[in-house]
Amino acid sequence: MFDNLSTKLDKAFKTLKGQGSITEINVAATIKEIRRALVDADVNYKVAKEVTDKIKDEAMGRDVLTTVSPGQLMTKIVYDELTQLMGGTKEDVVLKGDPAVILLSGLQGSGKTTFAGKLATFIKKQNRTVLLVACDIYRPAAIDQLKVLGEQVGVEVYSEPENKNPVEISQNAIAYAKKNNKKVVIIDTAGRLAVDEQMMREIELVKRSINPSETLFVVDAMTGQDAVNTAKTFNDRLNFDGVVLTKLDGDARGGAALSIRAVVEKPIKFISTGEKMEALDMFYPDRMAQRILG
Ligand code: GDP
Repeated sequence: MFDNLSTKLDKAFKTLKGQGSITEINVAATIKEIRRALVDADVNYKVAKEVTDKIKDEAMGRDVLTTVSPGQLMTKIVYDELTQLMGGTKEDVVLKGDPAVILLSGLQGSGKTTFAGKLATFIKKQNRTVLLVACDIYRPAAIDQLKVLGEQVGVEVYSEPENKNPVEISQNAIAYAKKNNKKVVIIDTAGRLAVDEQMMREIELVKRSINPSETLFVVDAMTGQDAVNTAKTFNDRLNFDGVVLTKLDGDARGGAALSIRAVVEKPIKFISTGEKMEALDMFYPDRMAQRILG
């Protein structure tokens, strides 16, 4: 097994013990070790550099070397810094309006439709009535997929298979929700294999016309650096409110969470950890800091 970061830090500081206070020179190797751990966990290099510069500043002022366990103290500085950088505390989705509307965006395959089913389950558990809306006008299979999920979780699915106008479908769905006393509307939009202009324009129009109380961007944590670039492209166009990181049940160490948060400055709100409808968690920055550092 590889050493986790705290074990590595303990080792690094053992050799320094007794040398007095911490200096630029004697901490350099440790900072490099932390940076490597972050990059290994998929944190984008630029973000990793900014983070370790902050950690260095924080450590410099402390009497790290004369403490009983400088490695542990340093590890705590790193955890605290990462937790703060990811927002400190969890952030909930905002459900405002009657009905409250949640718009989902993301690339095809990111886990958007699966998340729609999970979110519906999550909200239903809070005793609110939910309407799922299939707004993928390109893939009839996507409508069927949502219908199957809706049936599975006991939530009605609204669709207009013949209509090719997502703005109209969304507006009609909201009117339907009002009439049928559904308090939360979740709109699943079309996803593509790569970011394309038409898709961006389309979802931008949907957002403008329905003014959702929450726009979420869904992204596959396994895609590493690409996740950050995609997040940036979507945020530039949609100015979304929060991020959903999926497929965290795999090997991804979670560095994408830190990179996305640092680059787009939007909170991660949920993490998805499997294909089952229950595999959804709120995002806790401190737990992710732990995961990133191993
Ligand atoms: P969409 O194209 O963005 O709507 O993506 P889908 O919801 O269809 O998901 C694509 C694939 O990823 C499907 O096979 C899902 O079962 C799978 N998937 C979605 N979320 C997760 C997750 O959190 N973990 C794992 N392991 N698979 C997931």
